[in-house]
Amino acid sequence: MPFRASVLTLYPEMFPGPLGVSLAGEGLRQGLWSLDARQVRDHGVGRHRTVDDNPAGGGAGMVLRCDVLAAAIDAAVLPDDRRPRLLMSPRGRRLDQGLVRDLVAGEGVVIVCGRFEGVDERVIEGRNLVEVSVGDYILSGGEMAALVLLDACVRLIPGVMGKEASGQDESFENGLLEYPHYTRPREWEGRGLPEALLSGDHARIARWRREEAERITRERRPDLLQQGITPTKPASA
Ligand code: SAH
Repeated sequence: MPFRASVLTLYPEMFPGPLGVSLAGEGLRQGLWSLDARQVRDHGVGRHRTVDDNPAGGGAGMVLRCDVLAAAIDAAVLPDDRRPRLLMSPRGRRLDQGLVRDLVAGEGVVIVCGRFEGVDERVIEGRNLVEVSVGDYILSGGEMAALVLLDACVRLIPGVMGKEASGQDESFENGLLEYPHYTRPREWEGRGLPEALLSGDHARIARWRREEAERITRERRPDLLQQGITPTKPASA
């Protein structure tokens, strides 16, 4: 079964959006993954299909109603649906490549996109929503966060990227940031290429890349080195 994404949103027209172009879009058209963007307002209450209300206890902004979101979720999932239900939320677990890999290994995702001040807490509990954040900043809605999460997942689906995403070397895959890349021309504005890359010696090239990855990680993200993957093993060619 291909990876199935259901997105619950007040703005389904934002999907597939950028995921409809390039390799993700090709994969979508080929059925390597599927996307079902559902209008939460279809489950709104009353003549005006209301989806939000004032915050209990007062204060500014509006809160998405739990009953409306629950109805939207219940309509999107089948009884034996094992896909995780995610709520895009700045309070959530920070999205990283490990979580992306776990999600891609499953059957897909159901993603709830918040808007306004957020969602009534009770639907998070009542529908077992897992809160996921894309970083420590505030977006105006969960849609762009959902697009980021899906983009990261979709590129790992077999067949979507071809060999580009085979990615053992890619940043974060081995606990390191990636080494620098170069291509033609061989000289540009007085800058040449690192000698190791011109050597034709595969072991030397692998060693150079490994060392550069370690150096850059040490300089920019020493926290990654502390996360358990010890970068001591020399890379094999
Ligand atoms: N009042 C909330 C922010 C609401 S922003 C707070 O202070 O935490 C409106 C919606 O945008 C959120 O419900 C969430 O779905 C989405 N959103 C905003 N920032 C996000 C982030 N960093 N990661 C994931 N979703 C985010």
